[in-house]
Amino acid sequence: MTISPVVKPTDTGWVEEWAPLGRCAGTDPDALFVQGKAQRAAKVVCKGCPVVAECLADALDNRTEFGVWGGMTERERRALLRRRPDVRSWTALLSAAKANSAEGAIA
Ligand code: SF4
Repeated sequence: MTISPVVKPTDTGWVEEWAPLGRCAGTDPDALFVQGKAQRAAKVVCKGCPVVAECLADALDNRTEFGVWGGMTERERRALLRRRPDVRSWTALLSAAKANSAEGAIA
């Protein structure tokens, strides 16, 4: 029997305990820690992931160096961090964007 985790989104829709809800949950974790061109193929799993923003924010805030996280390769994340050195909290930025997106969808 599989017991599903209880994961509640915040009022803004932000999911604090996002990992169990990822499309990659239950798959081989090594598949996201490939090198070079294989990363482009690996990140396909992130398309349509319901917690892509949470995953990306976590990786950016923690300066996670290796692997595919939040639909971005390590190289893409490094480039984003260089472009936006002003961002102190990716969680704050992306949770606000997610909340605004949800408001727009229901307005
Ligand atoms: S965004 Fe990608 S790496 Fe992150 S939880 Fe979803 S599928 Fe996994």
